[in-house]
Amino acid sequence: MAEAVVHLDGEAAMLGLGRRIAGHARIGDVIALEGGLGAGKTTLVRGLLEALGLEGEAPSPSFAIVQPYDVPEVRLPVAHVDLYRLDDAAEAEELALGDYLMDSLLIIEWPDRLGDALWPHALRLSIDFAGDDARRLTADVPDAWTERWSQI
Ligand code: ADP
Ligand code: MG
Repeated sequence: MAEAVVHLDGEAAMLGLGRRIAGHARIGDVIALEGGLGAGKTTLVRGLLEALGLEGEAPSPSFAIVQPYDVPEVRLPVAHVDLYRLDDAAEAEELALGDYLMDSLLIIEWPDRLGDALWPHALRLSIDFAGDDARRLTADVPDAWTERWSQI
């Protein structure tokens, strides 16, 4: 497990990072996104989805807790999960998120709602504000991502 810090100046930089991550993502991966409201979590996911062929399918703020994207045009099936409205870890268990690992890339916003129950191979990205339009992203890079992250 290594830590990497990325400075992202403007929304376009965040979209670009999402796009580059998409180029290395595989079925069974977990990408966990931490950061307060407006940090840019969904923006990163938007870049990622676009790169996978899901242009115009940008996640809406009111989407269901689990939004699966498994349409013909997608290069890699994705389950996008936003746990913001979740009350407790018991409720999270009912979502059976692990089932998505079999055939999709799993992206989780607000993973802290799961308690400590995050997969050890998850790529954990934590976003902090660094001025109006800038963000500092800290990546906890697990072994499964070391090689790939060095190319991002
Ligand atoms: P979250 O999902 O974390 O609540 P969103 O991605 O929905 O956040 O919103 C982030 C907002 O911040 C967007 O309006 C976006 O345009 C703006 N923004 C400004 N600068 C950045 C940046 N460097 N990275 C990401 N978003 C940024
Ligand atoms: Mg969001």
